[in-house]
Amino acid sequence: MEETQRDAKIDRAKAKKRREARLLLTAAAGLALLAAAVYGLRSMGRERPQQPAALTTAPVAGEQDSPAAGETGWQYSGWKYAVVGPEDLAKGALILVAPSIPYDADSAPELVRVFDYKNSSYFVRSTDLYAAERIMEPLNRLLGDFEAESGLHTVNIVAGWRSQEYQEKLYDKAVREQGAEHAERYVALPGESEHHTGLAVDFALYFEDTGLSGDFDGEGAYAWIRENAWRYGFVQRYPAGKEAITGISNEPWHFRYVGLPHAQLMTEKGFCLEEYLDWLKSYPFEGAHLFTECLGQSYEIFYCAGGDVYVPLDGEAEVSGNNLDGFVVTVPRREGETPE
Ligand SMILES: [Zn+2]
Repeated sequence: MEETQRDAKIDRAKAKKRREARLLLTAAAGLALLAAAVYGLRSMGRERPQQPAALTTAPVAGEQDSPAAGETGWQYSGWKYAVVGPEDLAKGALILVAPSIPYDADSAPELVRVFDYKNSSYFVRSTDLYAAERIMEPLNRLLGDFEAESGLHTVNIVAGWRSQEYQEKLYDKAVREQGAEHAERYVALPGESEHHTGLAVDFALYFEDTGLSGDFDGEGAYAWIRENAWRYGFVQRYPAGKEAITGISNEPWHFRYVGLPHAQLMTEKGFCLEEYLDWLKSYPFEGAHLFTECLGQSYEIFYCAGGDVYVPLDGEAEVSGNNLDGFVVTVPRREGETPE
């Protein structure tokens, strides 16, 4: 018992050392952020809580120096400091994994076998196909409702979570069989595939009566899925017209879970994930927060730069890293709890 406690202590000390070492690298940027944040909080007449091991990042110009608590209705006294570590930056429904923005394999989500968790409204290509546990319930509802709506029992999940090694094999195979140009356009480099997160699935079609399969193009009856996926927290991650931003060609079959109300906001505003995460930065904790309604539920959303994350003193909040430089906090609110 004592041994275990001592080991745990040593592990914590080691983790702390590692965090500190990482911090040094970006200390200058961190100090600038800290200075801006301390200034902002002092000007509200409150002492800043003790600084935890912060993720350091250069502050975004203009976002840090204008606290406006009185105007936006939130009270600093209603918030507490959430302790997050650098590893948390790669966790949550809003992480961005993209060309040049790799996924840290150590942040692997809770994975489940899709075959064991799926309902009877769709197929899965293999019993060996995995996805993040959290997407299974909304995925079942999405495809259950689609079947009820269309009478079609044809959607086949052909991809979910992928390991780095598997992505490497896929990439090499694509280069070998279809050429480097095709591979670059359609297959992510190992480490840079959204499938590593377990939050993405690829749909195809399977016709049980004939045994034939087909591509999922999101057209005809399948447009329902494209149009309604947001209600279940999913978005079509690589739409046509966003190739220059996502770096990936139109993929009507690839759906990504981002959760609610984010899927609704992205769909309404026509934002891909890159654009959406950028836009959320205009709602920093220290400034005006974003208030939105989604399927009868109110939400308050704000962005916390670096590792300074705030959550409500009471009640729940979902904190998601962006896998880049900060965290998005989503707070479900009861009616009347949020300002107009
Ligand atoms: Zn995919």
